[in-house]
Amino acid sequence: MSNESEGAVRPIGEIASFHAHVYYDPATTKAMAERLRQAVGERFAVTLGRWHDVNVGPHDQAMYQIAFAPEVFAGLVPWLMLNHGGLSILVHPNTTNPRRDHLKDALWIGPQLAIHEDKLPHEMEAEIAPAPNTQPVLRP
Ligand code: ZN
Repeated sequence: MSNESEGAVRPIGEIASFHAHVYYDPATTKAMAERLRQAVGERFAVTLGRWHDVNVGPHDQAMYQIAFAPEVFAGLVPWLMLNHGGLSILVHPNTTNPRRDHLKDALWIGPQLAIHEDKLPHEMEAEIAPAPNTQPVLRP
């Protein structure tokens, strides 16, 4: 057993928020990523991040981020499972350990991609979900 799997049960309160990173290829799948982004914004109270056509941080492909509060998870994540249109999406919790959040405690929808571990800190302040920048008008 590794050290991380020993010891106390981790309380759900460690999770301050979640991210879903939606990956796309600027040359071939950006239109699908645009449709998905619009559909999410019409249905969920989330914060849609900016487009990154060039790789940033630990990510191995172009992507944008969806930031959301824990109470949004149960509606949004199953919806993404049904509607990702073949795109890869990484869903991870935000605790005080971004490296563990992305590499050990995340889930993938669609094909799994590489994550660059060296770009992720072991410790930082947990990110609380920002105020949503969407105004949902449709039911999921
Ligand atoms: Zn993230």
